[in-house]
Amino acid sequence: MGYTPKIYADSEIEPRFQNSSVHGKTGPIHVSYPNFYWPQANNWFAALEELNIPLSAEPNEGLEAGGYFLPLNIHPDNQTRWDARRGYYDPNVDRRNFNVQVNSYVTKVLFDDGETLNATGVEFSSGPDGSRKTVYARREVIMAAGAIHTPQLLELSGIGQRDVLEPLEIPVLISLPGVGNNLQDHAMLRLSYDYTNSSVRDINDFFLNSTFNDESAAEFFASRTGPWTGKPSGAVAFPSLRQVTNDTSSRILRAQSLGDHLPSTYANESTLRAGFEIQAQNLLKDIDHRYTPAFEILNDNAGGLHLALMRPLSRGTTHITTADPFELPSVDPRWLQDPFDFDLMILAMQTNQRILKTRAIQQLQPSYPEVSEDADVEQLAAVIRTGTGTQFHYSCTAAMLPRHLGGVVSDQLIVYGTNNLRIVDTSIYPMVPGAHTQAVAFGTAEKAADIIKLTRCVGFLSFIMNTQG
Ligand SMILES: Cc1cc2nc3c(=O)[nH]c(=O)nc-3n(C[C@H](O)[C@H](O)[C@H](O)COP(=O)(O)OP(=O)(O)OC[C@H]3O[C@@H](n4cnc5c(N)ncnc54)[C@H](O)[C@@H]3O)c2cc1C
Repeated sequence: MGYTPKIYADSEIEPRFQNSSVHGKTGPIHVSYPNFYWPQANNWFAALEELNIPLSAEPNEGLEAGGYFLPLNIHPDNQTRWDARRGYYDPNVDRRNFNVQVNSYVTKVLFDDGETLNATGVEFSSGPDGSRKTVYARREVIMAAGAIHTPQLLELSGIGQRDVLEPLEIPVLISLPGVGNNLQDHAMLRLSYDYTNSSVRDINDFFLNSTFNDESAAEFFASRTGPWTGKPSGAVAFPSLRQVTNDTSSRILRAQSLGDHLPSTYANESTLRAGFEIQAQNLLKDIDHRYTPAFEILNDNAGGLHLALMRPLSRGTTHITTADPFELPSVDPRWLQDPFDFDLMILAMQTNQRILKTRAIQQLQPSYPEVSEDADVEQLAAVIRTGTGTQFHYSCTAAMLPRHLGGVVSDQLIVYGTNNLRIVDTSIYPMVPGAHTQAVAFGTAEKAADIIKLTRCVGFLSFIMNTQG
């Protein structure tokens, strides 16, 4: 009692949490910070300081471990959401060489015969009962169907693991075991410790307190300020392992990669196992670093302290089970199948327990509806076993790795064994980034555009040099 968490004034937040020198000003996607923070954000940062978890200057500086305000896709002038449609589609919709075919699903990539396959176009349809149509490509086909549907399309087109395609009687055009394997996600555990202090306002009050909601709406429409511009989880933490434990006897800190917990599809695939071994070595080295986040605590300022693992060793799969393109593939995320990940989630839950006991959070009067206050490891494990799910960050199912390590695309994004089929989405990551994936997906697309433009430029120059003798 009598304890007041440190209140960060706006003038302090500016230099402390936001470094404008690491942000561009001219990109198509706006990233900024809301005008409003729930006052409990102060308790959050004070709690982290009590536990010596540092407040990071800001994630975009590269040393991203610690607590910080989350940058958001909102326009700084009007505080409204910004997205791919506003950033990329709307400004280009009138271009004569740009067409979006709505209500259309690609069912297959088409190739001509040849030693190295040439993608000639795609087959598509409006649905299972629609007729199949074809669109032809003059130069190349670029696939961007995401980490689940890109491998589905590759497999439907005859590119993938032999053991997946042959039972479905799909002719194997290119044997690439990496397709649909190496699936990674940030395993997530949603945990609520609802704050019971009646003076605390939070996102739930928009639904429970109509006066508060009406006043917030009025403020938003009048000046684009106030609670409606905030995000529930504006203040978060991405602690590194070293920031939350010194226990050198911990199984996590002594982990060795054995590859004993891989999917059955890896059994006869030496390239996949070799690729995993290198990924695991890098990950274990990385995660030992003081400034590498091991997990995320998504504080929602209402008592939700949701956990997500940032650097998983578990690997999942996504494969077709039929040759019908309108049947969904079978996705097996295999969250926490590697004991390293499971132990890390236990450590994350124990970190939550310590945060809840800080003076700063005690002031908000947390409750324990899901996990008892002093739950032991066995009780925490039981919660993990029933509660773990996705953070929707599926990636890595057509990885950019050398072919002998289970790779699917080259560093030019070209699918091995083809001349001109590129992939541009989160499936190309060898390992899931230790951060939310959307910004990285935008970055991937921008980088891909540069690669493709450079290829054209080099092709054009060599054409000129050849014609000039
Ligand atoms: C519910 C949810 C919440 C999320 N929240 C966040 C967040 O807060 N922050 C963050 O950073 N990330 C978040 N993500 C993750 C982020 O959205 C993804 O990582 C990112 O969109 C992946 O981009 P992508 O281009 O790889 O795939 P996608 O964005 O999935 O794009 C693939 C596109 O291909 C289309 N497609 C698929 N198959 C076919 C086909 N056969 N024919 C034609 N088109 C096809 C799909 O309709 C889709 O439009 C969230 C994801 C979800 C699902």
